Amino acid sequence: MKRIIIVLLAVTSWIGSVAQPVEVGLFQNHLVKAAVVYCSAGNYQLLLDGEVRLRLQEGDILYLTLEEGKVKVLDAERDFGYASGLELRSLSTESVFRLRSITPEISSRMFDDNLLVIPEDRYLTLINQVDLDKYLAGVVEAESGPNAAKEFYKAQSILCRTYALKQMDRHTNEGFAICDEPHCQTYRGKSTRNPEILEAIVETSGMVLADFNFKLITAAYHANSGGQTQRASDVWIADVDYLQSVVDPYSLHQSHAKWQDTISFEAWKAYLLKNGMKSVTRIPEEIIYIEQMRRKKFFILDKDSIKMTKIREDWGFKSAFFDMFPNGDSVLIWGKGFGHGIGMSQEGAMKMARDGYSYQDILQFYFHEVRMMDYRDLPDSSLPKTLLDQ
Ligand SMILES: [Zn+2]
Repeated sequence: MKRIIIVLLAVTSWIGSVAQPVEVGLFQNHLVKAAVVYCSAGNYQLLLDGEVRLRLQEGDILYLTLEEGKVKVLDAERDFGYASGLELRSLSTESVFRLRSITPEISSRMFDDNLLVIPEDRYLTLINQVDLDKYLAGVVEAESGPNAAKEFYKAQSILCRTYALKQMDRHTNEGFAICDEPHCQTYRGKSTRNPEILEAIVETSGMVLADFNFKLITAAYHANSGGQTQRASDVWIADVDYLQSVVDPYSLHQSHAKWQDTISFEAWKAYLLKNGMKSVTRIPEEIIYIEQMRRKKFFILDKDSIKMTKIREDWGFKSAFFDMFPNGDSVLIWGKGFGHGIGMSQEGAMKMARDGYSYQDILQFYFHEVRMMDYRDLPDSSLPKTLLDQ
């Protein structure tokens, strides 16, 4: 039986609660050596090595360069010298800055709240110290785009919040809590393209999914399930009650529901042989294909098997949910869905929201036996250390 228990505890405490900061490492796929910061809205204080040096207002610019393990700071007129740490501290809740990496060249991004800069030997560590809800709005926008319905954004908000809190101790030895890459969820800065995203975050403030031991769940999501989600243990080692396979009609007929590919038959046979399928040399070629009415964990030939997820990874397919047909010298692949298939299908959830389902309905459809509750009501042992230390 599927069910979600909604724990209605301390609802009123969400209102007026103190903003929860989170530290996000920016441009984490690059080694940034020089950057420009623009004050886009509100006011900031510039602190170098903990000392206030300047007040910035809208339109002010700072140039930051890594030189001999320190950050060199200039504005349009002055040279502030070198520092071992820089902080751009917002003086209001509405302050926004724009950050552009010059070396290497990366187009600029807007961020809410504060910027911290720590010079390392070979690069500058750039950290956005930002209110958790504003961070989550940026993540939801980056992970799902600006064109979905509000109930979808609420479901996605709860998953992104759960995921973020569960991952929060991953980067502590690098000086921040979370990175801005898919490793920790994609974050490209401030949400600007649909105000309903931040509204959805605020309306579900604090809400996460926990299991029946009050542990944050692995809040998995993917672009499109292709019509059936994947059981977590078919991809990952651990089996968990809340990530089982569900038949998902909502993901059919969406933009990533189907894909096609072609590979050469010789390459496919060589691949199977290389992966231990010895019988390939003696069985009829017509049976060396794959059919999945339902998702299968393995492709089995005689006594040998290969995991479907391995085939997906090795060939770079969009999903592990596909059929294969020999066709002359080649093999046609007709695929379903996009992504690992575990947890919530984003396109399926968007369709459910358009059809009038609530965010509770959506999460209940994709996750089994979970509690929806405020993370501040979880026991300390279930929360990231980073959060407890603040
Ligand atoms: Zn990360």
